[in-house]
Amino acid sequence: MTKAMALLSGGLDSSLAIKLMQQQGIEVIGLHFVSVFLKDAEHAATGGNATLAAKELGIEVHLRDSSETMLALLKNPPHGFGKNLNPCIDCRIAMLRRAAEFMREIGAKFIISGEVVGQRPMSQRRHAIDMIDRKADVVGLVVRPLCGKILPPTNAERAGLIDREKMLAISGRGRKEQLALAQEFGLTEFPNPAGGCLLTENTFVVKIQDVLDHPPFTTADMALLKAGRHFRLDAHTKAAVGRNEKDNEHLVSFIAPGDTILCAVDLAGPVMVVRGDTGERNLETAARITARYSQGRDKETVRIGLYATGDIEAEPIKIFTVRPAGPDEFRGQLIL
Ligand code: SF4
Repeated sequence: MTKAMALLSGGLDSSLAIKLMQQQGIEVIGLHFVSVFLKDAEHAATGGNATLAAKELGIEVHLRDSSETMLALLKNPPHGFGKNLNPCIDCRIAMLRRAAEFMREIGAKFIISGEVVGQRPMSQRRHAIDMIDRKADVVGLVVRPLCGKILPPTNAERAGLIDREKMLAISGRGRKEQLALAQEFGLTEFPNPAGGCLLTENTFVVKIQDVLDHPPFTTADMALLKAGRHFRLDAHTKAAVGRNEKDNEHLVSFIAPGDTILCAVDLAGPVMVVRGDTGERNLETAARITARYSQGRDKETVRIGLYATGDIEAEPIKIFTVRPAGPDEFRGQLIL
C-alpha cells in the first residue's frame, strides 16, 4: 500500500483532501503543527481539532511545535507579513520543509495538502503556491487533491501512484463544493474556516509588536500575551493582570522561571505576573495596578502579596501595602 503524509490542520479542507486520497487506496499519516500562537491555549498539548479530525478519518496524527521557527520569522520574514503580523508565505515554506523531512522519516511517497488555489489572499494564489514549493524544495512532491486537476502533474501522478482524474478542480474562496463533499463523506468534525492563528488577528498586533520592539524575547513572552491586560513597566519589564477567572488561570499556566506573581491578600482580585526587572519600583507599580483591579480599588490601601510561584493559596513571601492606582494613572503604560 502506498503511504503518504498529510498536513492536517483540523479544518475541513485537509480532511477532504485526505478522504480523496484514502478513496484511492493511499495509507495516510497526519502531521499537525502547533505553536504558542494558537488562539486556544490547550490546543498545543492536545492537537485540538486536528486530533478530532484524525480520529474521524481513522488515521494517526503526529504533532510538531513550530513556535521557535515562527518566532524567528516574526523578527525578519523574508517574504514580509500578510494583513497583520502573519508571515504566512515563510511559515508555509518552513512547514513544507518540515513536512518533507517527516515524509522521508516515515517512508511516505508524497505530501497531501488541503490547499485550494485562490482561497487565501497571501499564500494560496497560484504563483505563491509554485514559489512556496520551490523555496521549500518540494516541487512535485505536494499533492493537492481538492484542486489537483488544475495544477501541473505531481511525481505521484507521473509514477502512477494516484489517478489525476479522481482529483478535483476547486478554486476560489467559495465553500459550497467543500460543504457538499463533507456531507457526501459524512464528515462532521471540522471548525469554520477562519483558523486559529493569533498572528492574523488585528487585536493581537499591538501586543506582539510591543514584544518585538523590546528584544530579547522568547516564545514564553508570546504565550503570556494570550491572557490578561498588559502593561509595559520599562524596556525590560512587562506586567500582565488577569481580566477574569479564566485569564487568571491562563496567566498562572504561562508563568516562566523568574516571574513574580502578585495577588491581593485579604480580598478578591486578579493575578498579576511581572516579568523582567522586579526591583522595588516596578513591583510597587505592579502592586498598585493589581489593587486597582481588585475589590479594594476604592479603599485607602490594599495589601498585595508577592508569591514566588503560581500557588497563590500559599503564604506570600512579602506583602506590600499600597494605594490602588487611579483609573487613568498608568494608562500610558497600558499596551492592551
Ligand atoms: S496563519 Fe499563522 S500558522 Fe498559518 S501560515 Fe499564516 S502565520 Fe503560519
